[in-house]
Amino acid sequence: MLQSRLFTKTRKDAPKDEVALNAQLLIRGGYIHKEMAGAYSYLPLGLRVLDKIKNIVREEMNSLGGEELVMTSLQRKELWEETDRWDDERVDVWFKSALKSGAEVGFGWSHEEPITDMMKEYVASYRDLPVYVYQFQTKLRNELRAKSGIMRGREFLMKDMYSYTASEEAHKEFYDKVTAAYLKIFERVGLGDITYLTFASGGAFTQFSHEFQTVLPAGEDTIYIDSKKRIAVNKEVLNDEVLSKLGLDKKDLVEETAAEVGNIFSFGGAKSEQLGLNFKNEDGESVPVTLGSYGIGITRLMGVVVEALGDEKGIVWPKSIAPFRAHLLLLSEDAKIKALANEVYKTLEKNGVEVLYDDRDQRAGEKFADADLLGIPSQIIIGNKTAESKLFELKDRESGKTSEVNLEHLIAELRG
Ligand code: ATP
Ligand code: MG
Repeated sequence: MLQSRLFTKTRKDAPKDEVALNAQLLIRGGYIHKEMAGAYSYLPLGLRVLDKIKNIVREEMNSLGGEELVMTSLQRKELWEETDRWDDERVDVWFKSALKSGAEVGFGWSHEEPITDMMKEYVASYRDLPVYVYQFQTKLRNELRAKSGIMRGREFLMKDMYSYTASEEAHKEFYDKVTAAYLKIFERVGLGDITYLTFASGGAFTQFSHEFQTVLPAGEDTIYIDSKKRIAVNKEVLNDEVLSKLGLDKKDLVEETAAEVGNIFSFGGAKSEQLGLNFKNEDGESVPVTLGSYGIGITRLMGVVVEALGDEKGIVWPKSIAPFRAHLLLLSEDAKIKALANEVYKTLEKNGVEVLYDDRDQRAGEKFADADLLGIPSQIIIGNKTAESKLFELKDRESGKTSEVNLEHLIAELRG
């Protein structure tokens, strides 16, 4: 992509009312646009990052046997009344509206109720189970405070998966597989070292739900980490009884501030019972389906990566989710050198390397600063020297290290 064609532009300052580092950097880079507190638009560069994150998550969900769908955001009041979750006293993040007829509707802050209700049409017998379904869905939540940029939106993208199984054992087996897949996802997006499986409140069978918490000063949660065992306990459930149940010792735990990037839940048969999702087991008895619910905050994850991996110059994307693999910087007005840069750009694209080509008429200093702000993993610098040497300066955004390579090596490096 030619940078001169991007309608977005980098900017020196973020809006004054934006206090979150993730949103400040993403706005300055032209990745997102702030519409109001908690509501952001994803611009071409930002969308590329979101799509990469989604594809990693999609691959992992598909390998678990997940089937992708998309639910509607409009939800019926009557359905949520069946589980006593319509009332604003019970759920304080509802956005609600009404049809012309006067019927009340809610905008989906979660899809556990509608998807479980829908399954009544498709699940009747043990032969119909298990079912694993997932979606990437825009959730709407009227959050009281939205000061964490895209880490806490009033509108945000979530991947939610639901498992419908015939027994507690089948549920447990799948739940463990999801846990492993989640850890792999956080590894793949570059947060593996600082993300912990965390015991939290809620959940049938074991009294816990599991969160995936990434250590981050800007996070909103407090967790206690056992770094040897690589697990953590959320402050909200930390007590002596819980520690002994989990076989943890207080003196091995370190307190950290963290951001919740994922949350998985066992509902047992409770919600299916409330909504009437039953199936005939092998003995012909009607029993409730066992439900599991598995969420990852896709847009929050993007914000967490920006906060956790960035530096004082800007964003540092891991290769796996960067909008482009390389940023080609043309630093000369000489026609011959410009032709060379054009040639390199074409050759890289032909070889399947995603390149953002800074072909703008800007001073070198500005191009460098913008490249560091945008955070694309490798910068290829083509200036007056390059014409004679035919060696390209390749700079790693993360380490700042540079090397001089010929075209062949450049392609090999960036393809790999
Ligand atoms: P939190 O405790 O942060 O409010 P939650 O427990 O209500 O989150 P879940 O309903 O479990 O969140 O949603 C699944 C995932 O969606 C969370 O783990 C988080 O990553 C993400 N998420 C939740 N709320 C938001 C939000 N307002 N903005 C962005 N992502 C969110
Ligand atoms: Mg949660």
